[in-house]
This record gives sequence, structure tokens and C-alpha cells, in this order.
Amino acid sequence: MTIGIQTAAYVFASILFILSLGGLSSQESAKRGVFYGIIGMAIAILATVLGDKVHGQVYIIAAIAIASFIGILLARKVEMTSMPQLVAILHSFVGLAAVLVGYGSYIAPPEVANGMTEAEIHSAHMIHLVEVFIGVFIGAITFTGSIIAWGKLEGKIMSKPLLYPGRHLVNTILVLASIVLGVLFAGVQGTDGMLYLYIMTAFAGFIGVMLVMAIGGADMPVVVSMLNSYSGWAASAAGFMLGNDLLIVTGALVGSSGAILSIIMCEAMNRSFFSVILGGFGAVASSGAATAMEGEVTALNHEEVADLLKEAKSVVIVPGYGMAVAKAQYPIYDMVQTLQKAGKKVRFAIHPVAGRLPGHMNVLLAEANVPYDIVFEMDEINEDLPETDVVMVIGANDVVNPGAQDDPSSPIYGMPVIEAWKAEKVIIMKRSMSVGYAGVENPLFYKPNAEMLYGDAKDSVEKILGFLKV
Ligand code: NDP
Repeated sequence: MTIGIQTAAYVFASILFILSLGGLSSQESAKRGVFYGIIGMAIAILATVLGDKVHGQVYIIAAIAIASFIGILLARKVEMTSMPQLVAILHSFVGLAAVLVGYGSYIAPPEVANGMTEAEIHSAHMIHLVEVFIGVFIGAITFTGSIIAWGKLEGKIMSKPLLYPGRHLVNTILVLASIVLGVLFAGVQGTDGMLYLYIMTAFAGFIGVMLVMAIGGADMPVVVSMLNSYSGWAASAAGFMLGNDLLIVTGALVGSSGAILSIIMCEAMNRSFFSVILGGFGAVASSGAATAMEGEVTALNHEEVADLLKEAKSVVIVPGYGMAVAKAQYPIYDMVQTLQKAGKKVRFAIHPVAGRLPGHMNVLLAEANVPYDIVFEMDEINEDLPETDVVMVIGANDVVNPGAQDDPSSPIYGMPVIEAWKAEKVIIMKRSMSVGYAGVENPLFYKPNAEMLYGDAKDSVEKILGFLKV
């Protein structure tokens, strides 16, 4: 493939990636966005593999075929509730790739263009070394940070933040030491700087571990989007090392969209963006002491909940991670339609961090064909809750925790929440009294107008539906 055709293919793929991002900005056009992304990526891979500079295409295509087969097998097995873990692991692959590309590019640097002067060759070499060093640094942070994020999301690593005294000093020393290593690295001939590169990789890897370990459970959504951003910058850095314009553009698109998403998530959770990306810098550790719960927990059975719904005029459903676990979205929509037929006003209230992925609840409700016009964001619906007869909290916990508003010792203090307790009656559907992802007790369960309905969300909704249809 000639350079001209390859460049045209790259421009076309870049346009498709931009259209893809545009498509993903709304639920209606999301499928189209994914389709553009797939076509763009297929064109990008073909144009790169078939390019003049690439040799051993047979091996590359065989490797792509084997990896795609493994990828399809694994991705088919992944449950919707494990998508965040999958995303975190995929980010770690991008980070690892940037590290390996950096090593490879240092050992076998790009060829020097004909007709360059000594000075030009020297500055091109220096620029390349800087690209390698920065690329490996970002890649190593992304790699280890994403693995820790995977561990936290999978429940293999405690979700509580690891805040040891002096951690910011240690991180700062490691960053400064990496800069010194970078200067030494740029000063040696040939590939003698490999040792500096390895040491810096270890430092950056340690920083990645510490940055994510310092983030508490409730702030994990921001970490996921932040690592998404880092993986984009790592890919962009790999693009600079390889002299591949498409990789630079694609990486920058991912990096900047991930950064914008992180800012949106921080605003939604009332967190400082810089505090989160710097591993909780400036965050004050909560006392962690459990605030004593006041009041009594009372429970209803399915028939009693159905009776409450029959009497209600307006109902708001607050779904959370438990709805995803139970796959309750289909019977929930059946229940909504039954209530609507009986003349009730039924709406959904979605918290920006409900579930385990940005937009998790919206995706699940869209999957069950819930119309968008009855799905409201937290800010749009909170003020209507005092006039609502029944709020059904289905598999949600942290996102309806009043402690976020009135308990300064709570790790989620300051995070805006859905004010379910302001309704006439709140029904909380979950299997037990256990805590949510942030690991905090929920005073909502003890409020006088709150009733628990224990059990798996899908099973409970189906039973309520049975009583509603009688
Ligand atoms: P939570 O994790 O706070 O609570 C979910 C609740 O669902 C649990 O208390 C659990 O209680 C219940 N549950 C689990 N399985 C079932 C089931 N089969 N049937 C009924 N209930 C069930 O979820 P929320 O959505 O309220 O909050 C999300 C949390 O996750 C926040 O802390 C957020 O910061 C964090 N997070 C969000 C991310 C995002 O991007 N959205 C990413 C990473 C973290 P029980 O065991 O008693 O049934």
C-alpha cells in the first residue's frame, strides 16, 4: 500500500472515530457510534498492517486472528455487571503496549530521513528519546493503576482508600527521581540507557499502584474514567514513538474525552478533579468510625408493597447496581407498564454513579426498551420527590444514602444523592442489610417512612407484579 493511500485511509478512520464519539454522546445514536468505531478501527488496522514499512504481515495477521478469537471468547463470557472490570483490564493492555512499544522503539529507533544535517539528526534523536521516556512513564502508570482498579472493582482489593502518611512526598520523590533518570537516559549513547528505562518503569508502576490505592470506593467512577484518559495519552505517546499519525490522533481523542468524562464525574460527585487524579491529594481521611444508626428497621412483604403501589398516584424508581446483578430491568419495565395502565405516573431517577460504569443504568433500561422520556437524571427529579407517593429503591444503596448530606464523618460526605427519604413512602428492595460499594451504613433504612423488602430484585419485582395483576 502506498503512503498516499495509507494517509487517506488514516484520515478516513480519524473521521469515523470522531463520528463514533459523536454517536456515543446520546443513547439513540450510540449503536451507530459503535458501528463507526468498528469500521474505523478495521480500516486503521488494515492500513497499518498493509503499509510499506511493515514486514512479516503473515505473522501479524495470524497474531491478530488468534488474539481476536481469544478476545471474542472472553468478551462473550463477561456479564454486564463485570463490564467495568473488563474496561479496566483493557486499559491496562494499552498501558503495557505503550511500555513495550517504548522499549522496542528505543532498541530499534526509526530510520533517519535522507538529507538531514548532523544537528537535525541529533535533535530528532533527542525528541525520540523524550517520546520514549514519557511514553513508557505514562504507560507504566496506566498499566499498574488499571490492574489495581480491576482488583478494586472485582472485590479482590479492599475498596477502602490506602492513605499512609507521607505518601504524597514519596510520590513526589519518585517523580523527581524519574526526571533525573530521564536526563541520564538522554545522555548515553546507543541502547546503554535501558537500565534507566527499566528503573523508571518500576517507579512509574509504583506511582500507578499508589495513585489508585489511595482512592476510596465511592470515587472509583472517576478513576475508571481517569484511567481511560491515561490509556488514551499512552496510546498517543506510542503514536509519537512509532511516527504513526493515526495513533496520535486516536490516542488524543480517547485521552481528552476521558479527561472530560472525569471532570463531569467529579462535578456530579462534588469532588475536586485534581485531588482525584493526584491520588486523593488534599483529601481528608474520614474517621471511618461507624455513626450509630437511629431508628428501627421495618419490612414489608410483596403483597403489602403491591397494595402501596395500587394506592399511589406517583411512583419513582431508583435503580442501582443490584438491579444489574439481578437482571431485573425486564420485569421492572413490565411493572412500570402495569402501573401506567392503572393511571399512575411512573418515572425513573438515575444517579450519575449508580451501578459500576458511567451510564450503566441508562444502558440497562434502554436494553429493556424503557422509553427515555420517563428516565430522569438525579438533578431533574430530586425536587419532585417530596410530592411523590412511593419511591422504590431497587438494588441501590450508596446513591440514596442521606449520610452523604448530613454526616461529615462519612466517606461519601459531599456526594449529591437521590433524596428518596423525602417521598411519602420509600421501599428499599435488596437481599439484606449489607452495605453498598463504598462500605458505609445507610441511615435511609432506619427512617420512619422507609420499609425494606428483602430478596433478589428480579424475584421481588415478579412477585409484586403477580399481586398487581390480580
Ligand atoms: P451500591 O453498590 O451502593 O449498592 C448496591 C446494592 O445492591 C447492595 O447494597 C446490595 O445489597 C444490592 N444488591 C446486590 N445484588 C442484589 C440483588 N440480586 N437483588 C437486590 N439487591 C441486590 O450501588 P449503587 O448503584 O447505589 O451505587 C454505586 C456505587 O458504586 C457507588 O458507591 C459508586 O461510587 C460506585 N462505583 C460506581 C461506578 C460507576 O461508574 N457508576 C464505578 C465504580 C464504583 P444486598 O447485598 O443486601 O442485596
